[in-house]
Amino acid sequence: MDFLVLFLLYTLVLLLVVVFICLCSDHIVDAVAQIFHNVVPSWLQHITQNAVHSHCQSRNITFVILHLVLEVAVFAEYSWEILGACLELEFHWFYLLLPYGLLTVNTGFFFFSCVTDPGTITKSNLQQCLQVYSYDEVVFRRNQFCPTCSLEKPARSKHCRVCNRCVQRFDHHCVWVNNCIGALNTRYFLPYLGTLMLMAAYLALLTAAFLLQVVVLSGLMLGSYQDADRQEWATAINFIVQLAATPVSCCICCSQTKRPTNGLNKDMW
Ligand SMILES: [Zn+2]
Ligand SMILES: [Zn+2]
Repeated sequence: MDFLVLFLLYTLVLLLVVVFICLCSDHIVDAVAQIFHNVVPSWLQHITQNAVHSHCQSRNITFVILHLVLEVAVFAEYSWEILGACLELEFHWFYLLLPYGLLTVNTGFFFFSCVTDPGTITKSNLQQCLQVYSYDEVVFRRNQFCPTCSLEKPARSKHCRVCNRCVQRFDHHCVWVNNCIGALNTRYFLPYLGTLMLMAAYLALLTAAFLLQVVVLSGLMLGSYQDADRQEWATAINFIVQLAATPVSCCICCSQTKRPTNGLNKDMW
C-alpha cells in the first residue's frame, strides 16, 4: 500500500472518529465517567478531579505555557529546516523574516490580552457600566443581580465562574490567554487571533512555495528511483508528495541539487 492511500485512509478514519465523537459526545462522556467510577480507586478519582478542577475551572497558566511552547517549536522548525534552505534557493530575505515580524506583533497582542483587565465590574464602576448598554428585556433584564457578586447585572455582562467575577460585555473565558475576553481587552484579543491566523497561513504558504521550488529545480518529475528490490520506477506524484511530507528530505534534496539541472541523478533517490 503506497503512501497516498495510507494518508487518505488515515485522514478518513480521523474524520470519522471526529464526527463520531461530535455526535455521541454525551454518551461517550457518560460511559467513560461510569467506567472511571467503577474501575479507578477512589483516591485516584479524588486526585484526578482536583487536577481537572485546578486546570479547567480556575485560572492557571498551563495553557499559556503550552501556547508558548508550541510557538517556539514551530519557529524552531522553521528556523532550523526551512529558513536556511530557502536562503540557499535565494528567496528574498524580506519574505523569510516576515514571520518573525508577525510573531513579534502577535506576541505583543497576546501579552496585552493576558494582562489587561477585561472589564471587571466592581461597586465603584457599577453605575458607569449600567449606562453603557440598554436592556433588551429578553436576554438582559433590569434589576437582575449576580448571586455571587451581589451586584446588579449591566446589560451584556456575565459572571465568569473561572475568574469568579462579573465582566462587562463578556464574550468568553479563554484558557489560552488565561483571562476573560470582555469590553476592555477585545481590542487586543481580536488582533491577536488575526495575526496568529496570518502567521499560520503565511508559514504554510512559504513552506509550500519552498517545496514547489525544490521539486521544480531538482527536476524531480523527470527522475526515477529504485525500490528495495532495485527495480527502477519513474517518480510519480505520490512519490513526490511522500518526499515533500518530510521537509528534512527536501532540505537534503535542496542541498544536493543547489542549482537547476535538466535531469535528476537516478542514484540520488
Ligand atoms: Zn458576578
Ligand atoms: Zn474568566
